[in-house]
Amino acid sequence: MALFDKVSEFAKSASDMTASVIGTTKLNAKIALEEKNVAALTARLGEIFLAKLDAGELLPEGDVAEICKEIATCRQNIAAFEAEIEEVKAAKDQDAPAPAAAGAKFCANCGEALSAEAKFCPSCGTKQE
Ligand SMILES: [Zn+2]
Repeated sequence: MALFDKVSEFAKSASDMTASVIGTTKLNAKIALEEKNVAALTARLGEIFLAKLDAGELLPEGDVAEICKEIATCRQNIAAFEAEIEEVKAAKDQDAPAPAAAGAKFCANCGEALSAEAKFCPSCGTKQE
């Protein structure tokens, strides 16, 4: 009976451990969720501060001034990249490629578009070279 007691004792402690592992996993997930909430709210707080700084309602000092400089650099980069996108778009519009693919074949008789391996025109039946 002693052996059975030991086995059941082991099983009990193992199941306790599993329960506590599941418990801490859930708690860690809850902590991660709250940390995400804090990060999102911190970002919102930053946006409110930034709007006040942009409006001149707050004057940047010390660390805040450094971060404001970095934000200004990021904004300049964004403006430069957006200008590049506009240039790429404008260039694309100028030299739009012809819809016909290179090497496309057309019937010598009726002008029907042909597949590359067509021996006869499907429209007029003219033999193709
Ligand atoms: Zn044809």
